[in-house]
Amino acid sequence: MSSLLIKGGTIVTHEESFKADILCKGNKIVELGDISVLPKDVETIDATGKLIMPGGIDPHTHMQLPFMGTVAKDDFASGTVAALAGGTTTIIDFVIPNPQQSLLDAYHQWRDWAKKAHSNYTFHVAITWWDDTVAEEMNILVRDHGVNSFKHFMAYKNAIMATDDILVSSFTKCLELGAIPTVHAENGELVYHLQNKLISEGMTGPEAHPLSRPSSVEGEAANRAISIANTLGAPIYLVHVSTEEAVDAIRYAKDHGQTVFGEVLAGHLTVDESVYQNPDWATAAAHVMSPPFRPKHHQDALWKGVQAGTLQTTATDHCAFCAEQKAMGKDNFAQIPNGTAGVEERMMVLWEKGVNEGKITMNEFVALTSTNTAKIFNMYPNKGCIRVGADADLVIWNPAATKTISAKTHHSKIEHSIFEGMEIHGVPETTICNGKLAWHDNVILTKSGDGKYIDRPAYAPYYEALRKRKELNKPKAVVR
Ligand SMILES: [Zn+2]
Repeated sequence: MSSLLIKGGTIVTHEESFKADILCKGNKIVELGDISVLPKDVETIDATGKLIMPGGIDPHTHMQLPFMGTVAKDDFASGTVAALAGGTTTIIDFVIPNPQQSLLDAYHQWRDWAKKAHSNYTFHVAITWWDDTVAEEMNILVRDHGVNSFKHFMAYKNAIMATDDILVSSFTKCLELGAIPTVHAENGELVYHLQNKLISEGMTGPEAHPLSRPSSVEGEAANRAISIANTLGAPIYLVHVSTEEAVDAIRYAKDHGQTVFGEVLAGHLTVDESVYQNPDWATAAAHVMSPPFRPKHHQDALWKGVQAGTLQTTATDHCAFCAEQKAMGKDNFAQIPNGTAGVEERMMVLWEKGVNEGKITMNEFVALTSTNTAKIFNMYPNKGCIRVGADADLVIWNPAATKTISAKTHHSKIEHSIFEGMEIHGVPETTICNGKLAWHDNVILTKSGDGKYIDRPAYAPYYEALRKRKELNKPKAVVR
């Protein structure tokens, strides 16, 4: 079994920072501390002056997604190469069955596509329709396939939108299975109405995209999803929270004892809606994603949400469409494939705009980029953690190195980066995935297929808290 020694670095976890060597054997961390007795044939990496953190986990990517009449450019090979080059060792992608399609058929289809992954991966499964067979297949996915989270799109009417009846049925089923429902919170009826209205008024360019999805559209859906979960006693996770309204909804629910989690994208923290005013159509269209980039004051609310612990995870919604694909919506913004890249840049952007600008600490950075996601989706302490027995998924960060983000040098297949030109002070220099060097000296060392599928068992620890509260609040019949 191969051994890897990381010598002389400072370990940074979500709760502490300390100097120690790390010995990895196979795909596990086997020793921490001042290591002087070395196994034979050990490969040594000198990490003097560098930081060693748990490998990043991006809980929201869409590699190779068939969407809006085309397929996302980054597949599980190029997308996970980009992830590793940015210090991310695990992605949680989405199986999205078509309405009426078997969940299991879709799941196996995505598993097949993901065989070429370089990094580790696992899947949320979307609930896009409902009947008894869907409920039964949710049982099977949780019991036999390591799925513990189900996604619901409250937008995309006439396609994959989950209406309230589906939310109620599916959240109830999630609760029964010890899984967590997640939601894309945007009111699909309002989006549909506004898209048609804007087009009829001649507003066909990308600048109409944010107008079709104002912040109230997200605020309404966030409140509705949270209220439904609260009524049923289910936990809930909101993906890509982008507005002050949604942050407020989560905070209010948490203050009232509800188990609610919020995710924020690196893009929403740093890019604002002025991008849609760009006179160059292709540049404006390259930023079309949902929810859209927002007026600046929402960014302040998102950062405060991050600092307060209202938002616990950071993601990218990496769904890469090239200029040619975006041009499908040349005459109608509603037909521009929704999505931007970012899986490679997420941690660097959070480091630069969060840690370097003094908004978050290094330990909070680790929590936000890895540990919290591992906990919520029940991969902790194998992932998101540096301790003996944990998986050897690590990133060695050089706080003294610098880099300028550019589409010219990124690993995504598309020709645009929403973070173009951003200067980063502190970069992921070496990424270790499954105990092996995956990214080192600016070179990818993994092969397609080296990534492992991660089983995520049901009943994450917060389920015990939910169980206790349910017991405490159990209704009692009046004895007459
Ligand atoms: Zn998404």
